[in-house]
Amino acid sequence: MSWVKNFFIYLSENQTLNKGAQRWGLKLGAQSVVAGTNIDEMIESIKKLNAHGISCTIDNLGEFVFEKEEAVEAKGKIIKVIEAIHEHQIDAHISLKPTQLGLDIDYDFCLANLTEIMEKAKSYDIFVNMDMEDYDHLQTSFDLLDELAKTYDNIGTVIQAYFFNSVDNIQKYKDFRLRLVKGAYKESETVAFQDKKDIDKNFLKLIEYHLLSGKFTSIATHDHHIINHVKKFVKENNIPNDKFEFQMLYGFRKDMQIELAKEGYNFCTYVPFGEDWYGYFMRRLAERPQNLNLVAKQVFNK
Ligand code: FAD
Repeated sequence: MSWVKNFFIYLSENQTLNKGAQRWGLKLGAQSVVAGTNIDEMIESIKKLNAHGISCTIDNLGEFVFEKEEAVEAKGKIIKVIEAIHEHQIDAHISLKPTQLGLDIDYDFCLANLTEIMEKAKSYDIFVNMDMEDYDHLQTSFDLLDELAKTYDNIGTVIQAYFFNSVDNIQKYKDFRLRLVKGAYKESETVAFQDKKDIDKNFLKLIEYHLLSGKFTSIATHDHHIINHVKKFVKENNIPNDKFEFQMLYGFRKDMQIELAKEGYNFCTYVPFGEDWYGYFMRRLAERPQNLNLVAKQVFNK
């Protein structure tokens, strides 16, 4: 992992900068990859994507919350988003992070927050995806999923291909609707592949396994090599288009997003919005330092 990647991951985890950034508004080019700071702006962005036949998954930005009031506020906001999806009849579902809802404060408190969200989403038949965060939260997040899945069938999660235990987990959760990703956090070599080639190889293995299992698979990547491989694999294995979708992040490879939807593939854009954009944005810079172009454009266009 290069020093640039490490540097941006360090910045993404810096609590002081995280808090400070909320006062700056959407700066540093973040508005190119964050769909506004409030629900109205986010809904307008989604209507434009829906017009291209693209569905969306909405992330109310925020993570690593350590105060109960903040977690309760986040829960209230996600419930408002669910109500907005219903009211505006947009093609969208929810993505959420357990640490935003209090996983670092108290497990039962987090479970209670999640249960309220699941109840509201279920009442409108809206799907909820539990995003996966770093390794320290992996097992407790799966525990939450196990608990919620006893009552709710509108929940799914993410399997991160860089983890050695991802193959075990995909087998355990093969009956769920799953989003498959490479993995975004800095993880120790004791638990995760570090080499891009190893991660890509495992990613393809997981994708093929879940596609063949017959359950709905979201292939979340901007990597055209992976996307081309999937196109070929589904054709060869007669996997119908309604059993999978491609996903990308808002603002990335926009032409390719529209093109894939036009080709007849289900496509879903991950739409982050809100004031807590800093950690999310720094992780995107860590993944792809070329994204610094976004920052440069902002600075020099002033
Ligand atoms: P990379 O390995 O970053 O890139 C591979 C190649 O693709 C590059 O070399 C380049 O040729 C091409 N490429 C990539 N990006 C671009 C671009 N913008 N423009 C042009 N070419 C490009 N991670 C988690 O840990 N937990 C989650 O819950 C999670 N959810 C996610 C949801 C979605 C919808 C997406 C898209 C990602 C999510 N991630 C999540 C992040 C994911 O784990 C990766 O960190 C991230 O997607 C970067 O990997 P990649 O597969 O896009 O390809």
